[in-house]
Amino acid sequence: MKKPVVFFDFDNTITACDTFDGMLPLFSRTKRWITLERDWKKGRISSRECLAGQLQGLSLTRRSLDEYLSGIKLDPCFKDLLGLLRLKKIKTVVLSDNFDYILKSIFRNHGLPNLKFYCNQLSFKNGRMIAGFPLSGPECRICGHCKTRSLLAEAAGDEPIFYIGDGYSDSCPARYAQVVFAKGELSRLCQKRKIDFLPYRSLRDVYRYFNTRP
Ligand SMILES: [Mg+2]
Ligand SMILES: [Zn+2]
Repeated sequence: MKKPVVFFDFDNTITACDTFDGMLPLFSRTKRWITLERDWKKGRISSRECLAGQLQGLSLTRRSLDEYLSGIKLDPCFKDLLGLLRLKKIKTVVLSDNFDYILKSIFRNHGLPNLKFYCNQLSFKNGRMIAGFPLSGPECRICGHCKTRSLLAEAAGDEPIFYIGDGYSDSCPARYAQVVFAKGELSRLCQKRKIDFLPYRSLRDVYRYFNTRP
């Protein structure tokens, strides 16, 4: 049997909180981010529109962003789980609808510079942050970086697909996974859409799953 590929969502799956959503109440100039979030989840606007609008509404220097990011913690079992999967020679890929600058900083801060990830782009121009979506799926409104697009590209050899996530944007790629680990909003969405999933509370549960298998 082919080795599986394990895909991780980033925010609130690898990290102990939602890094981007956590920034919004702290640094937004107005409450517009709330309306954008609601409109996205109702399908009225795409993830790209939502994220670009929310980013535009932030009042935050690169320095205060770095400071905020330096306080972000990971799920306590993430590194152990990575080690276990590496030992079993199972490929791991991170699929995020957050931004490259944020993922890179957090992985660097935690001594994990070599993880493979796909996400959106963040650039700084005249003190402002600008969103870029080079990996969007033209048809997809759920993710800005279409996670399904990257997932199918990374598991193109028909490897069994494992997906671990917690949020609305994970409902796009979860449809293509053989095994879904879900918590939070993703588990509610899977229930509603009749997608089989294994509930998990933290990555410790996922670790146990892989540890008890050959
Ligand atoms: Mg998440
Ligand atoms: Zn998508």
